[in-house]
Amino acid sequence: MAILVCGGAGYIGSHINKQLNIEGYDTIVFDNLIYGHREAVKWGEFVQGDLANHIDIEAAFEKYDIEAVFHFAAYAYVGESVEEPEKYYYNNVVNTLNLLKVMRSHGCNKIIFSSTCATYGEPEKVPITEDMPQNPINPYGVTKLTVERIFKDYAKAYGLKFAVLRYFNAAGADPDGEIGESHNPETHIIPLVLDAASGVRPDIKIFGTDYDTPDGSCIRDYIHVSDLADAHLLALHYLENGGESDFFNLGNAIGTSVLEVVNSAKKVTGRDFAVVHAPRRSGDPAKLVGSSEKAQRILGWKPKYGDIDTIIAHAWKWHENAEY
Ligand code: UDP
Repeated sequence: MAILVCGGAGYIGSHINKQLNIEGYDTIVFDNLIYGHREAVKWGEFVQGDLANHIDIEAAFEKYDIEAVFHFAAYAYVGESVEEPEKYYYNNVVNTLNLLKVMRSHGCNKIIFSSTCATYGEPEKVPITEDMPQNPINPYGVTKLTVERIFKDYAKAYGLKFAVLRYFNAAGADPDGEIGESHNPETHIIPLVLDAASGVRPDIKIFGTDYDTPDGSCIRDYIHVSDLADAHLLALHYLENGGESDFFNLGNAIGTSVLEVVNSAKKVTGRDFAVVHAPRRSGDPAKLVGSSEKAQRILGWKPKYGDIDTIIAHAWKWHENAEY
């Protein structure tokens, strides 16, 4: 029996692929390499394919005896999703329907899905719990919420078993330094601030210093990608043991401001760099912090690397010697 890791050449998928292999699972990474990196697939088999093509998905299910699917393959640029919603609805929603169709026809009924705190939109309060209203404020968040709803209907009608994991801000890198975060274009604060530390970028821009937060910059909940990987493995075990389909937040419940991230990067790297106060980025909620009490209680998850300095130190270790 094997595990299909759709989007396993990307940042989060590659870390989960590593963890699955460490635990002895056979994995097949399925990725179109539009944003993924072939070099990030260091474990398991690799199939270059696209969820837009039924034939590609069918071929993977014909060739391998797939027990469960991890699904990370999605576009995730919030700004782009506003400019080009069609691209997001097709890739994130329609292609997921394609995947579910082939899974059904092969009797594969377990899926672990990469969702997001962006499905909550502007929260009424923090920390956010799973039962709070979901009102996404951009098409990206709507695509992820739509898939969550499709899963619910498929569970009822077709017996799909799902674990939906809503990430807060995935960050850091494999502590062994074998894989890490690399996006093109890069929009995330930690890789950008490390680019400033290493001199690849002239400065780091802080998007908004007039928010209603203690230092005026936005607060986010950074969660180490290896902790995310642990949660995914636990979610798989949960479904394998007959757990009910469910939704789980993955965060640390620790809010860290953009200025705190910048200061931590200066401390961890020992480098100084220019910090520019820039206008707010549209669509940024002031504060997003998640409660993962449910994941801890039901899945038995215990994040190991909650401290922002550790997250940045692992990201820096990768960043200094990045292969891709
Ligand atoms: N941010 C920033 N400067 C940058 C990139 C991001 O100030 O160059 C801020 C952004 O406005 C947000 C936080 O850093 O408040 C985290 O942004 P990121 O894009 O990393 O993740 P998001 O929260 O959007 O998923």
